[in-house]
Amino acid sequence: MIDKLLDGYRAFRAQSWPTQRAHYAELAKGQSPDTLVIACSDSRVDPATIFDAAPGELFVVRNVAAIVPPCEADTGHHGTSAALAFAVLQLKVREILVMGHAQCGGVAAALDPAKVTGIPFLSTWIDLLAPALDHSAQIADGHARHEAMERDCVRLSLENLMTFGFVKERVETGLLTLRGARFGIADGRLEMLDPASGAFAAVD
Ligand SMILES: [Zn+2]
Repeated sequence: MIDKLLDGYRAFRAQSWPTQRAHYAELAKGQSPDTLVIACSDSRVDPATIFDAAPGELFVVRNVAAIVPPCEADTGHHGTSAALAFAVLQLKVREILVMGHAQCGGVAAALDPAKVTGIPFLSTWIDLLAPALDHSAQIADGHARHEAMERDCVRLSLENLMTFGFVKERVETGLLTLRGARFGIADGRLEMLDPASGAFAAVD
């Protein structure tokens, strides 16, 4: 496995690095990404690949199912919340994009908790999706419900973002915009959540 990674690194050094050297030299002075992307850890949904983004463009948090937890003011180790706070308060990103995706294993686990029984930490993490379960409960077709849940989980994370005072304040004063998206792995299509209609629509 590591041999494949190191082959990739050597290819990067030989091909990409020479052309991007000046860009990296500039980035070494500091980063100023405009966008925080919260995406799933799934190996198939890399934001930099999907958005054809260069190093320095996206500040990315990836976790199982692209979940933003609600703001919890305790002394726990809140990795996603810490990254969110850093991106908003220190980097002063102007946009936050929550990107869910098709065939999300985290969503599958929310629909069938037995899938993650016995995996440390994961059950309580997936429990965060519980508020999204009701909305699609009446959908009988399993595949259709899974897709509906993928979109509802994005909506839930966007709602949870607003429980962070520093996010809410900046959204309300127009300094920060929240967006939702879903990436279809099989067709490579991106859907964006339209805040006006509350529906997802494919990007042209
Ligand atoms: Zn996923």
